Amino acid sequence: MPSKAKTALTKKELDEYRKKLTVRRNELVHKLSEFRSESKQVETDIAQDLADKAESSYTKEFLLSMSDAERSELLHIDAALKRLDKREYGHCMMCQKEISKKRLTYLPWAPLCIECEEKAETDVV
Ligand SMILES: [Zn+2]
Repeated sequence: MPSKAKTALTKKELDEYRKKLTVRRNELVHKLSEFRSESKQVETDIAQDLADKAESSYTKEFLLSMSDAERSELLHIDAALKRLDKREYGHCMMCQKEISKKRLTYLPWAPLCIECEEKAETDVV
């Protein structure tokens, strides 16, 4: 990654995206623990465990119990939170251009700008 691009978003905006990402992440984790847990304790442990870790170090079992869409969203959210910490958030991972705010509002975890995403989709068979 050659880029040292700093995000052009204000701290307030970044905080808002972080909040959105965190809320969505909690939803996913919560939904999963509802689906699986037999006791309240398990749910709390999983949620706490995930909350404690900025790194995505989920157990295989945990990830396998999610649908593909949920799993990929959760991992995207984690990656986005990591980018927030490194102040790289809001820039396309491929072309380093700024991702539009409109897109980030709709998809706060989006790793790519719309052009690159379309390109990536056509590349995938
Ligand atoms: Zn791009």
